[in-house]
Amino acid sequence: MDLYINGEWMRSGKTLDVTNPATGEVIDTVPFAGKKEAELAVSAAYEAFPQWSSQTASERSRYLMRWFQLIDEQQDEIGEIMTKEQGKPLREAIGEVQYANSFIQWYAEEAKRIYGDTIPASAINKRILVQKQPVGVIAAITPWNFPAAMITRKVAPALAAGCTAIVKPAEQTPLTALKLAQLAEEAGIPAGVLNVITGNAQDIGEAWLEDSRVRKITFTGSTEVGKLLMRGAAQTVKKISLELGGHAPFIIMDDANLEEAVDQVIASKFRNAGQTCVCANRIYVAREIAEAFTEKFAAKVNELKVGNGLEEGVTIGPLIDKAAVEKVEAHIHDALKKGGQVTVGGRWTNHFFEPTIITGATDEMLCMNEETFGPLAPVATFDTEEEVIERANHTPYGLAAYVFTENIGRAIRLSEKLEYGIVGVNDGMPSVAQAPFGGWKESGLGREGGKYGIEEYLEVKYVSVAFK
Ligand code: ADP
Repeated sequence: MDLYINGEWMRSGKTLDVTNPATGEVIDTVPFAGKKEAELAVSAAYEAFPQWSSQTASERSRYLMRWFQLIDEQQDEIGEIMTKEQGKPLREAIGEVQYANSFIQWYAEEAKRIYGDTIPASAINKRILVQKQPVGVIAAITPWNFPAAMITRKVAPALAAGCTAIVKPAEQTPLTALKLAQLAEEAGIPAGVLNVITGNAQDIGEAWLEDSRVRKITFTGSTEVGKLLMRGAAQTVKKISLELGGHAPFIIMDDANLEEAVDQVIASKFRNAGQTCVCANRIYVAREIAEAFTEKFAAKVNELKVGNGLEEGVTIGPLIDKAAVEKVEAHIHDALKKGGQVTVGGRWTNHFFEPTIITGATDEMLCMNEETFGPLAPVATFDTEEEVIERANHTPYGLAAYVFTENIGRAIRLSEKLEYGIVGVNDGMPSVAQAPFGGWKESGLGREGGKYGIEEYLEVKYVSVAFK
């Protein structure tokens, strides 16, 4: 597929192969663009901005609704593209398309609810008006783990607010992004409002960071690249939103509903083969119930089926690449050296890694401190509520945390004391379009989703009116 700039499909000299992580075969090639195309995309979005931002909210809403409808009609086809380039099981991929699309629908509605304020003035012949206006051209840089949702979560509120967008998807998963652009074109979204380019991440990133016409950078990916973008954005003082790494604790208290906790920890841990930033990374179980929990957990994990995501019944697809496999392997190796035991799994072939449980996990292990980004579930025990809160908060990350308890007091205490942007109480899957998703500490800045998510694309303007 080609690049989508200013409503046109374009090539650039070099190309980039897109491979299927399940089979290793090249499924397509896309342009490997650089600075020149990055600047062209900014110019297109910059020129499209006055017209797009001056439409009424209902007009913009109608475009978004048409885009939503086309994606909805083609969800199976988009899901298949995603499975082929990213690896996740087809059912999960279609689920992601629906989730991604829920942002477009929600923000198509929210476009009409960008409210300002009036504030009582200090003089009788003055009025204070507060308006919200779109920030301008926004640049979105997205990762490979959610090839559709990480784009729509940024682009839908941006377009709804009246911004125009330039998008660089991850090099591993450009096809889903370009397919979404194709449907945006079919939906009649005017040329230049949404542009998608693939290519050299560093060159494209630098071009966008240096360009003062880009007023906002929104990024999901590694903490390392996030910090780099934050530094770069200082050159022209751009607004910035960052969704970075996480290291989610999953706390199971002694009064938890065990069946429920097991089902939810599996959903949280093994979705996308453990390659999500809100995946349970560290499972803390009250000592009294640890044995009962591990037994049930192991039995259910043994039912998971690893394989090519296009095959019926597969629940865990391949990891994205060799480096991902090596990281899981290194975490297992380190845990074994430090006294952990592999209770289930532990082996891999090519990019396929078995879902793995490590028991006897301790806070010194790598897997208890760094994001594994793979299907590894370390289980540690704890004795008191205070202790587990302290251990759960002892990390530079602060994206998602989970607490399982049937005691309302505990649920409230823990949810308030955990230093995380998202807390799932008896809920392993909290992400929805209308709720604010985002992290504390080094997990990021800003929120995506809900009424909070659209604020990221709006500037506040205070108008002071004096009259006679
Ligand atoms: P991961 O390790 O999950 O691939 P990255 O943070 O490297 O996470 O990638 C997330 C996104 O950031 C991808 O689209 C990638 O191409 C992009 N990216 C990587 N390095 C840079 C950079 N130096 N400048 C801008 N974007 C970058």
